[in-house]
Amino acid sequence: MNFDYDLFVIGGGSGGVRAARIAAQEAQAKVAIAEMSRYGGTCVIRGCVPKKLMVFASSFSRVPNEADAYGWDLAARGFNWAHFSDKLGSELDRLESVYCSFLQNAGVQSFNERATIIDPHTVELDSGKRFTASYILIATGGHPQRPDIPNADLALVSDDLFKLNCLPKTILIVGGGYIACEFAGILNGLGVRVTQFYRGSQILRGFDLEARELIADQMKGAGVELHLETNVKSLEPKTISENLSDQTAIPPPPTPFKVMTTSGDELEFEAVLFATGRSPNTAMMGLEKAGVERGQRGEIKVDAFSQTNIPSIFAIGDVTNRVNLTPVAIREAMAFVETVFKSNPTAVDHQLIPSAVFTQPELGTIGLSEEVAQQQEKIEVYATSFAPMRSAFADQPDRAMMKLVVSQSTRKVLGCTIVGPAAAEIIQLAGVAIKMGATKEDFDRTVAVHPTMAEEMVTMRFPTRIA
Ligand code: NDP
Repeated sequence: MNFDYDLFVIGGGSGGVRAARIAAQEAQAKVAIAEMSRYGGTCVIRGCVPKKLMVFASSFSRVPNEADAYGWDLAARGFNWAHFSDKLGSELDRLESVYCSFLQNAGVQSFNERATIIDPHTVELDSGKRFTASYILIATGGHPQRPDIPNADLALVSDDLFKLNCLPKTILIVGGGYIACEFAGILNGLGVRVTQFYRGSQILRGFDLEARELIADQMKGAGVELHLETNVKSLEPKTISENLSDQTAIPPPPTPFKVMTTSGDELEFEAVLFATGRSPNTAMMGLEKAGVERGQRGEIKVDAFSQTNIPSIFAIGDVTNRVNLTPVAIREAMAFVETVFKSNPTAVDHQLIPSAVFTQPELGTIGLSEEVAQQQEKIEVYATSFAPMRSAFADQPDRAMMKLVVSQSTRKVLGCTIVGPAAAEIIQLAGVAIKMGATKEDFDRTVAVHPTMAEEMVTMRFPTRIA
């Protein structure tokens, strides 16, 4: 049968664009892609990239104090959200156009429309146009989810934070995961009074406990009012005319709320942000009609090659809810092209993925936490906590920590956790060694780079704990 395209990609985020571009460029496939919002997707438009720029913006609030200790006299005249936000908008426009030109240069046909699946080889665009393709790749990502309580739809989610015309003076952030903790630090640094509720006993569930405790302490020390074992019981919107930081803002500023908590308190905030997880974008895509199987959270079920139960339909990235990180979606895209268009079946390796949480202080991690490792085998833990040189000199109360979790039997490093400045940068390279199967002795025989923070990774001589 003759198809219009070899590949039709639905979703123009990091995974979809990469698959479309590489299939066209390296396998000479005839490719089309449909995106209903903006090319670049969550990472570029509403996630990693603008978030990291906001982390940079917020980090400058510390500079005058620190600089003062180093002999500088910097007059701090405050933060101008409108200036930053304009610049951020232009930068995102630029990045989106880079993504579009990647596609154009590769000869990919782009459609700025929603696409639905009609059958295993056919998609339909909102305009009514139908196209057939040998393969359909779903890379539609995910979206923030709100808890099921009345008025939650009036509160902010992470997508909204990049579009604010003014910053609220006070905000309640609900959740204790990546997004909640990152934005608690960002908004606190930008001068917003931040209260954070987490329903569990410590933020950042799933990461190393000592790291979680250190980050929570440092966030509290920096001014975030963190309430553990606390959640929102109900939300009552207040009139928009009160408590606004900027009455002239268009679109309207966030809804202020009276919040009733599970601990029985009643608190008022100019804004409430729900950072309570994300769900795969699989609704109203024609998946049922095409017979594509989904899991309990709505995610598309795929095998190790990202193939669904329908042989011509594949899915990659957050829509499959495997490891929801941009670089993983990109790996899945590359493996898909190898498998389908280069006759080289390639399963994505989801083991030992280094990652970072851009909290303040930053968290970088790979492999097992101490808690998980000790349930699996006998381990040695090498850990150190110290005041980073730069901030210690400036009398700042910052602490950093590094931890290696080592297998007693194989001596391999099973996990590494770093909290502190540049943790994300350090873990990227520690990750290479650990992915190669480095032992503690391999770390030991690497000469330290002095004076750095990272040198602690190769100078921890004796185990702190044996478990
Ligand atoms: P997470 O799953 O990381 O965290 C969700 C948080 O919300 C958890 O603390 C969870 O609590 C809490 N929660 C869930 N439901 C409710 C509820 N009904 N009431 C109160 N609290 C609730 O999701 P995020 O939204 O923070 O991030 C989504 C994903 O995006 C991440 O898993 C990550 O893969 C990716 N991401 C990665 C980043 C990075 O690499 N730096 C940055 C941002 C996002 P509990 O722990 O009890 O379940």
